[in-house]
Amino acid sequence: MSEIAHHIEQINRTLSPGVRLVAVSKFHPVEALIEAYEAGQRIFGESRVQELVAKQEHLPRDVEWHFIGHLQTNKVKYIAPFISLIHSIDSEKLLSVVETEATKCGRVIDCLLEVHVAQEDSKYGFTPEACWEWLNTHPLIRYPHVRVRGLMGMATQSDDLQLVEREFEQLKRLFDQLKASGCVDADAFDQLSMGMSHDYHLAMRQGSTLVRIGSSIFGERTY
Ligand SMILES: *Cc1c(COP(=O)(O)O)cnc(C)c1O
Repeated sequence: MSEIAHHIEQINRTLSPGVRLVAVSKFHPVEALIEAYEAGQRIFGESRVQELVAKQEHLPRDVEWHFIGHLQTNKVKYIAPFISLIHSIDSEKLLSVVETEATKCGRVIDCLLEVHVAQEDSKYGFTPEACWEWLNTHPLIRYPHVRVRGLMGMATQSDDLQLVEREFEQLKRLFDQLKASGCVDADAFDQLSMGMSHDYHLAMRQGSTLVRIGSSIFGERTY
């Protein structure tokens, strides 16, 4: 068994029921993705449009591609025809461009809203308050080709596990409040993307349904 296959098997054994693994393959070569595919992995996460599009051509059609990085509006058109889930909607402007491109493709594109709960201020995303207030103006009605499936967030990069867990808890609380509020389609709002290699155990304890794991599968990135 290859090292990548071994890592995937080990991680899968630790996943809570109903949690899906997004293999974050950014900066790793196509050969590494093929190894993961052969080990049974079907969901891959990438954070750059050009890289995703290039890799997509080399992998079988049954792969689910997830976009997890900051998405520039002028690049949405390149992924709109095939993307399975965009984790990182961080503005209404971006959502409106996804709507336009999805319409051109005759698709409804699944998206998550990125919410900023970490202490680092370099990250993108809505604050929890801004997300709540915005959705309570019922904007999603204007975007019939976008299906908002839930939220995505990252915790602070810290050894303070209580801090990290509190941030995941905050995200889960917002998720539950939105689902109950009537400002999202509660039937479709069922995904909470949180947890990376070093903190996914804590994220699962707080109700994550999608964990985004890169270095624990593919090794450290060189960038
Ligand atoms: C790179 C990245 C990950 C994966 O991080 P690892 O620590 O390598 O598991 C997860 N989510 C996002 C948004 C990323 O950019």
